[in-house]
Amino acid sequence: MSHRYATRGKNSRRSPNGKGPKAAPSNGRPDRRKKKKKESDLKRSDLIQQAQVRKEVVFEASFDFSESGLHDKLLKNLEAKGYTKPTEIQEKSLKAQLEGRDILGIAKTGSGKTAAFLLPILQKQIEGKFQALVLAPTRELALQISDEYRSLNKGLGLYNSTFIGGTNMNKDLELAGKRNDLIVATPGRLLDLYQRGAIHFKALKCLIIDEFDRMLDMGFERDLNKIIDALPIERQNLLFSATLDPNQERKIQALLNNPVRLQISSGNTSNDHIQQELIEVAAGESKMPILIDMLKQDDFNRVILFAETKRWVSKLKRKLSQAGIRADEIHGDKSQNYRQKALNKFKKGHIQVLVATDVAARGIDVDDVSHVINYQIPQTLDSYIHRVGRTGRAGKTGMAYTFVES
Ligand code: AMP
Repeated sequence: MSHRYATRGKNSRRSPNGKGPKAAPSNGRPDRRKKKKKESDLKRSDLIQQAQVRKEVVFEASFDFSESGLHDKLLKNLEAKGYTKPTEIQEKSLKAQLEGRDILGIAKTGSGKTAAFLLPILQKQIEGKFQALVLAPTRELALQISDEYRSLNKGLGLYNSTFIGGTNMNKDLELAGKRNDLIVATPGRLLDLYQRGAIHFKALKCLIIDEFDRMLDMGFERDLNKIIDALPIERQNLLFSATLDPNQERKIQALLNNPVRLQISSGNTSNDHIQQELIEVAAGESKMPILIDMLKQDDFNRVILFAETKRWVSKLKRKLSQAGIRADEIHGDKSQNYRQKALNKFKKGHIQVLVATDVAARGIDVDDVSHVINYQIPQTLDSYIHRVGRTGRAGKTGMAYTFVES
């Protein structure tokens, strides 16, 4: 097998399986690793280095949750989850949110933004009635937000429902009429429920829009506007976005009322970082044997493998299965039920590799993802950052590899 590993950044000169030499080999054979990158590759690797710099910004919390003034029951739930100190977005948004201010949070998944908006809501729900609605662009993200809410609201007597496409409508029609302190939804299904008269928002006090940039990318703007028109005018608004594109500004201004703006630079929940490396292969050389080699290493035990298209995802899954590697796939052509099952298998460790497209993997929050591997280089820096952020979560160390053709 004639492949070269050319790595950059902190861990340059380490092969992906950790077994390779850390310095130039002294075995007399020529060093086949590339020393100099071609110009066409520089741009891509600059993207990657940029992501690395952004990922390593460290935040030191100035207080522990125990000193935050949050309700004792909430503190108990936080403790059970192992959250002792707030992340940057949590620390910076807590007071303003409790005061009822609108918030614009530029923060990505992995920053702890879910608990950042849920904690003040829960605090208010303990003190009195405070119904909130979270809109998320993907079903997976919506389910994760609900999971986070349920783990934080234990023993508080609060209720929540999740309304997402691809699930049983009759069940949703029933749940929509019940008490819901928190509703988490993707825009399409929620609008459907509203238009059928199954749900109203008269008691709603707070709207949260998560991953607003992705919401726009995915064409949800019209649905979003229709939902917002159905909400009480007097309400708190929290909007989170991974990026702040200048042409989103006007839309954001229309949604928010004199918001507190928070730009969160730390992507990690602690000072652990994600190690990122490039694997350079010659043009036309098959990456599959290298990938299989990597996946046979013991420490590659929970891997998300990204590919650019649904076809590629299916192909990679097939090839891995043929090589005896336990893998499953998630992408837009798979039903919600299939995607959820695959995700659960991955979470429980029943499969080693989850092969995914960007959109399907958006917001996936699985603890202990050992490695993220990009089989092809992602199209944008934003997408790279999101992918790499699937590993090294909640303060753990993660590794990310990206195949680059020379
Ligand atoms: P999020 O950005 O909301 O998807 O959160 C990213 C990860 O950080 C999730 O695995 C959370 O469980 C975890 N997390 C959130 N807040 C904290 C905290 N204060 N301390 C430790 N882990 C946290």
